[in-house]
Amino acid sequence: MAFTLDTAALGLPALVIHGGAGTFSTISGEEDVARLTAGLEEAVAAGWSVLEGGGRSLDAVVEAVSALESSGLFNAGRGAVPTTAGEVEFDSSVMDAETGAVGALCAVTYPANPVRAALRLSERGGVPDGPIILAGSGGDRFCEEEGLEQMRPEWLTAGRARAAASEEGTVGAVAVDARGRLAAATSTGGRSGQWPGRVGDTPIPGAGVLAEKETVALSATGTGEAFVVAGFAHRVAWQLQGGADLAAAVTGGLEAVSSLAGSGGAIALGPAGEMAAGFTTPAMARAWRGPAGAAARLYPS
Ligand code: ASP
Repeated sequence: MAFTLDTAALGLPALVIHGGAGTFSTISGEEDVARLTAGLEEAVAAGWSVLEGGGRSLDAVVEAVSALESSGLFNAGRGAVPTTAGEVEFDSSVMDAETGAVGALCAVTYPANPVRAALRLSERGGVPDGPIILAGSGGDRFCEEEGLEQMRPEWLTAGRARAAASEEGTVGAVAVDARGRLAAATSTGGRSGQWPGRVGDTPIPGAGVLAEKETVALSATGTGEAFVVAGFAHRVAWQLQGGADLAAAVTGGLEAVSSLAGSGGAIALGPAGEMAAGFTTPAMARAWRGPAGAAARLYPS
């Protein structure tokens, strides 16, 4: 399998984000690349300001993903791609390793920032009593009752035009704060032209999102069906618990996805701020920041 892997020891605190894995074949030049890169950098800045101020990793990933959703540049929030019925449906998730809080929404239409809805649910439900995942009309009802900001149709239209350059762009973030607490968040409009109600890996803990204490924070992107069946994020975590290093574990997880004919990528952070960003597609929008450095990339370098 074609494979690109970025690794770095970022130190504490650290933040890594992605804006989707794919071909980015509709990008038409340096200007588009610069626009996407600027969108990534703004999201890193939003998450970094939380970490820099001594804040929690959970809030950092929510701020970073929220910025990506609101940019309209990626396939999430304002930039989400429509289903075959012409509707836009959002999937989102958050997970906090420190407290075990987890929340996810799938196939919802209401929230302006689906990741904030996932955060709110993570504060209400929980393991084992739940709910930790709400779908469709039930998820929308939750968002409305919680008084979350509603997505406006005109925002979506504007976002869709901008997102044409980046149909693959599911978004996600992983962070570790100054106290070593890990958190992860993922958000998507799903796969382009998907069946209404179709759900991928994004809102599934252990598939497209995971944060496990002293182990790893992960966010994935790609052919969600394969990531779900591979149990992608859990597979990476189990390899880490078995003694693999982060790069080897992420590689092993993506190999399992490839063996199911899937493709995509993931970002991962360990408790000491070690990072790995790997992908089997021609490109993955990704960026990171920590005391040891910062970068934003789209293609293999
Ligand atoms: N993983 C997302 C999904 O399957 C799509 C993507 O990352 O491009 O819904």
